[in-house]
Amino acid sequence: MYMLKGKTSLITGASRGIGKGIAEVFAKNGSNIAFTFASSVEKAKAFEEELSAKYGVKVKGYQSDAADYNAAMALADQVVADFGSIDVLINNAGITRDTLLMRMSEEQWDEVINTNLKSTFNLTKACLKTFLKNRAGSIINMSSIVGLTGNAGQSNYAASKAGMIGFTKSMAKELGSRNVRCNAIAPGFIETEMTASLDADVKKQWIDTIPLKRGGSTDDVANACLFLASDMSTYVTGQTLNVCGGMVM
Ligand code: NAP
Repeated sequence: MYMLKGKTSLITGASRGIGKGIAEVFAKNGSNIAFTFASSVEKAKAFEEELSAKYGVKVKGYQSDAADYNAAMALADQVVADFGSIDVLINNAGITRDTLLMRMSEEQWDEVINTNLKSTFNLTKACLKTFLKNRAGSIINMSSIVGLTGNAGQSNYAASKAGMIGFTKSMAKELGSRNVRCNAIAPGFIETEMTASLDADVKKQWIDTIPLKRGGSTDDVANACLFLASDMSTYVTGQTLNVCGGMVM
């Protein structure tokens, strides 16, 4: 079943990890894919070619810093010029700069807030004109369970992810009357490069706390996004869907 046939999805940070997994599942379901990355030029080029060859949809990667307001505006205009429209926006690009507050620099705070939270404002604002004109759209913000629970050593990241949830609910209220939906996903422990750097003991501790007793895959998150992007969820907005193996209930 092609759940996104003929739609165009803009996914930030899809050169690897969760974003890449979403792009793959969306392309498989018939969506054209515009995706961004920060610095992985070669990886992005290879992925662009692989995806369009495999699924016969239009795919284009853009090097664009999600934290940069003007770059986000230019990106949305370029995607509309290249693809004709935007139906789904996934604010997925994100980073961590973990350390206890005692040692956290202003730069580490700003980098995380700007890349994870300000980017969500940037891209949503940049795509708004198109969504309002179409009187349709689905925005999905990649938060984290850490935004719900907090985590020692991640105050910057937790604040950015909690902020995304507040922003999501506000957008659902502002845009619902125009048939534009906005939801968040809160992944738990997903096996990507972001989590690969954790040491084995920390990983085991996380997994022990998960009722399903495993880390999540990028497909686990992508399938939840597929639901929220598609017409299967036309009466769902303002929600946060935890994709965490039951770690947070
Ligand atoms: P990842 O493997 O580190 O990939 C991050 C992606 O974001 C890459 O494509 C990277 O591009 C891109 N990116 C980073 N900074 C950017 C910027 N300023 N502008 C545009 N793109 C940028 O991360 P991930 O694990 O897939 O995580 C994806 C999202 O899920 C993040 O928001 C993260 O917070 C969230 N999340 C992850 C987990 C987890 O367990 N992995 C759990 C909860 C939430 P380059 O390749 O060019 O660097």
